Amino acid sequence: MKPFLLKVLLSALIFFSCYKLEAQSKKVFDIVLVGGRVIDPETKLDAVRNIGILNGRIASISTNTLVGKELIDVKGLVVAPGFIDMHIHGRTNQEQEFQLHDGLTTTLELEWGVENIEQWYGSRKSKALINFGASVCWPFERFKAMEKYKEAKQLMMENTIKGNSSLENLFNAIGGSYKDKLTKEESNKMLMNINKSLAEGGIGIGIPIGYLPKTNPEELYEVYKFAGKKQVLLFSHLREPNMLSFQEAIANATLTGAPLHIVHINSMALGHIQMALDMIEAAKKRGVNISTEMYPYTAGSTLIQSAIFNEGWQERLDMSYNDLQWVLTGERLTKETFDKYRQTGGAVIIHNMQPEWLKIGMENPTVMIASDGMPYSALAHPRTAGTFSRVLGKYVREDKVIDLNTAIAKMTLLPAKRLESIAPSMRQKGRIQVGADADITIFNAAKIIDKASFEKGLAFSEGVEFVIVNGTLVLKNGKTVTGVFPGKAIVGKFKK
Ligand SMILES: [Zn+2]
Repeated sequence: MKPFLLKVLLSALIFFSCYKLEAQSKKVFDIVLVGGRVIDPETKLDAVRNIGILNGRIASISTNTLVGKELIDVKGLVVAPGFIDMHIHGRTNQEQEFQLHDGLTTTLELEWGVENIEQWYGSRKSKALINFGASVCWPFERFKAMEKYKEAKQLMMENTIKGNSSLENLFNAIGGSYKDKLTKEESNKMLMNINKSLAEGGIGIGIPIGYLPKTNPEELYEVYKFAGKKQVLLFSHLREPNMLSFQEAIANATLTGAPLHIVHINSMALGHIQMALDMIEAAKKRGVNISTEMYPYTAGSTLIQSAIFNEGWQERLDMSYNDLQWVLTGERLTKETFDKYRQTGGAVIIHNMQPEWLKIGMENPTVMIASDGMPYSALAHPRTAGTFSRVLGKYVREDKVIDLNTAIAKMTLLPAKRLESIAPSMRQKGRIQVGADADITIFNAAKIIDKASFEKGLAFSEGVEFVIVNGTLVLKNGKTVTGVFPGKAIVGKFKK
């Protein structure tokens, strides 16, 4: 090429790139986050950047000055993808506000799922603070398959439409059906019901078999076969907190090809958590599509009326009455109070884990963080409000069990990637990248900490300064912004 022509080409190139830069710098963003430490676990970006948000999306990540209608100075703060919780049970904004203060932008009820999927999603539309969604509830779909529960089904539908659905109402309405064995016809109907609820937008299937531990292996295997054929992600609270139950679930997933997510490995494996992790790793090596999660507390929580406390629970769970704490009063139980409360029903906290077991789960980079947050009650299990800040405050900053970037990946990219094959919109979440949804959590890494406790009950976490959901500020300077409901529905891929 002639030197002259080269010169002309070069100056043209310089002219156009300057022009482009100029044009970009004149773009006015809705919000600009100025000077934060931006961490993106997928591209491994960890550097000071400005972020421009436009129309609910991340539109620019730059070292240049960006122009915005609203500028937020986030110097000295970490700018991370909004945290994603795959396991919550509170279905209202009351719980979502605690989740928001804990840095969450998406919270999903996947372990149990919800009843009447279409009506439930409808009841939350344009009302949620943060993104929401749920799986198809297998215990409900099998209950629905039985003709004799017709009236109860109708009542539940009315409640869902009115926005009165809750985990406790679901438990109370379908609890009686757990002992029923399905006929072949009912079993087919159950699968048809599941199929219909997936078409209504359910994100996979919740199979909390631990609450229906007498279920026939055949019935459960049918659900796995269905999930394998259709490639539907299953979320399972295993049959019992022991290794036989891990073997049952992993065998079913291996034989049927069903993708499987085992919930709260900490309370499922207890002291055998290393073995459980080894089994999951070995299954993965053989091509099994499997994952797991944990919460950072040495106690679990559930409803006292559940089958987990059927005859023989002390032996099965290796614990006694005094390890149980009644949520309404904070008292530890005795045989007398246990019998009394089991009649009335309600939430109980189960103190049965060792800190060393949690550390093993936390150190494994593939184990996601998920809260198993409970429906609101002043003295509910602290995980309901503090799970994510506790990981960042205690496990990262104070105890140095894992580094900050690993912790952020466990609460953003990992759950987003796990869910994207069943809920395609998750491809736009869990990332700080141009084009991704503007779900962003901004926190002070030196201060973030959980404030909820077993003694004092729920409290907002501290150190989360700003939370943006789909481009809208929902938390500003550590305070809830009132009157905004930018939370959108996350739905499964079979939604019609
Ligand atoms: Zn569970």
